[in-house]
Amino acid sequence: MSIIRKTKSVRLILSAFNDNKDAISIVELINKFNKKMNKTTVYRVLERLEKSSILHSFVGKDGLKRYAKGGKNSNSKKILNSHPHFLCEDCGTSSCIPIDIIIPSIPNYTIKTSEHLLIGQCKNCLS
Ligand SMILES: [Zn+2]
Ligand SMILES: [Zn+2]
Repeated sequence: MSIIRKTKSVRLILSAFNDNKDAISIVELINKFNKKMNKTTVYRVLERLEKSSILHSFVGKDGLKRYAKGGKNSNSKKILNSHPHFLCEDCGTSSCIPIDIIIPSIPNYTIKTSEHLLIGQCKNCLS
């Protein structure tokens, strides 16, 4: 993990994730901080946080990048594990599902990352 400088923008963006267990889309983040920092800063900070494994991202069905806390893979280099994300079709909430999906090794292909998006209804929309 590289050291990330805790600038004001880094702290602000991290605080959004501390208040929220669900994933936050890039658009929500830009709107949330549009008075405090410009779009480019939001993108840059997110990219840095992702590189440092503080956040990870995945792409929703709408093609929007969403960010959530923590590193993406609990990988031990040899076995690539990845957790799926759940997207609720009704309310649009997305969240990390804390299970490991183990990616088998496939001859002739090198897999670096994988994304699993589960789509359905969350518990709030089912009740
Ligand atoms: Zn829902
Ligand atoms: Zn996740």
